[in-house]
Amino acid sequence: MTRRGVCLVLAAASGTGKTSLSRKMIAADNNLALSISMTTRAPREGEIDGVHYLFRNQAEFDGLVAAGGFLEHAHVFGRSYGTPRAPVEAALSAGRDVLFDIDWQGHRLLRAALPDDVVGIFILPPSLGVLADRLRGRGDPDDAIAKRMAEAEEEISHAGEFDHVVVNDDFDRTLGELTAILRAARDARKD
Ligand code: 5GP
Repeated sequence: MTRRGVCLVLAAASGTGKTSLSRKMIAADNNLALSISMTTRAPREGEIDGVHYLFRNQAEFDGLVAAGGFLEHAHVFGRSYGTPRAPVEAALSAGRDVLFDIDWQGHRLLRAALPDDVVGIFILPPSLGVLADRLRGRGDPDDAIAKRMAEAEEEISHAGEFDHVVVNDDFDRTLGELTAILRAARDARKD
């Protein structure tokens, strides 16, 4: 019998490094697939439709909501974000694990939708000062940075809802911790 896959959710305030961490995990693990979220926000420089997100307009997004096509969806920074259902269900049934780069609301809703499948990890920055520096380095405009810092504190207030909390003070060490958590979750599925 095929082991059903695990849903590994990575959440963090923007700029904490979770996107780099999740992409590295995907590249290193053939059995781990990334859930590509749909969003109504505009692509940033270098972002590709179908790779980083499915970039869609509000009408298309709302159509999929109405059709029950999302496992979860939420408003973040005034935009719609959601996890399309079909690719996740297919991967889990085939025994593949799925990684989710979503926010605390998405984690809460995904846990409600798939209560036996979700392992949640919240990634913390070493400090709020380090987080502000990372956002500046990424080239977001000043007003967006101020807004995201306020929202970072709100996001961080939900860290206690997750199974694991990891501080990203060193990329490779954090990667090792995330990999160990995934390995343990896989092992727990083997019985
Ligand atoms: P960004 O616009 O910076 O890529 O993402 C903004 C926030 O939306 C991040 O916290 C990200 O994790 C979250 N997000 C991305 N995709 C989804 C999704 O499918 N569902 C939910 N609930 N949040 C998402």
